Amino acid sequence: KALRKAVIAGNWKMNKTRPEAKALIEELKPLVADAGCDVVICVPYTNLETALELTKGTNIGVGAENCHWAKSGAFTGEISADMLAEMGVQYVVIGHSERRQYFGETDVTVNKRVRAALDAGLTVILCVGELLEQREQGVTEEIVGMQTKIALQGVSEKELKKIIIAYEPVWAIGTGKTATADQADEVNGCIRGVIAKLYGKAAADAVTVQYGGSMNAGNAEELLNKEHVDGGLIGGASLKAPDFAAIVKAAS
Ligand code: PEP
Repeated sequence: KALRKAVIAGNWKMNKTRPEAKALIEELKPLVADAGCDVVICVPYTNLETALELTKGTNIGVGAENCHWAKSGAFTGEISADMLAEMGVQYVVIGHSERRQYFGETDVTVNKRVRAALDAGLTVILCVGELLEQREQGVTEEIVGMQTKIALQGVSEKELKKIIIAYEPVWAIGTGKTATADQADEVNGCIRGVIAKLYGKAAADAVTVQYGGSMNAGNAEELLNKEHVDGGLIGGASLKAPDFAAIVKAAS
């Protein structure tokens, strides 16, 4: 675990106008300036330029929340990975459960977006996670394993260094219901096992696997202390600077 990079990433979802984004980032900057982990904020497209400008010269990385797989073309409403990379964006969330649930993302389109993001030089935060009924049926590991395998099709061992995996049980996202630290550790460990099978043990030992799902200032430390939990993807709690900073501190 000591060899792996802990990454705390905020996922703002569809929140914050530009003035609101500016205020949040300005408040956050000093609070995370001495972070002992990587700090990233993934923001709506409309806030990317603001976030990039305000975080210049700081330890805060900036990410988008999605990207399309084509380089350009007739895809109204979409944004390409090249467009993000050109701006200076370094990270992109792909396969978030809200994209899968509400916008028809499948493992196959997630894989296409992952490929495009890597080709553009972006670091991918790849989200996987089971539905409540899948957990109740006892198929969590199969589902998460399959999502991981398909998302990484055509990704080389070298490219894996630009992949962060976020295990996010769908039933824990935005619900206030957190997975227990043991549940998170178990599935994160299983994801690492899948990576070991695909890429070998060294790659698996090095890959950052986050937990996401109602992580907050109160429960972060217990989750982050687990062997296989290398950081977090934070939704709700990333919208308040002190809360997000407390999670960064717990990971540091
Ligand atoms: C997320 O959106 O990735 C997430 C984990 O949300 P929340 O922290 O609000 O559950």
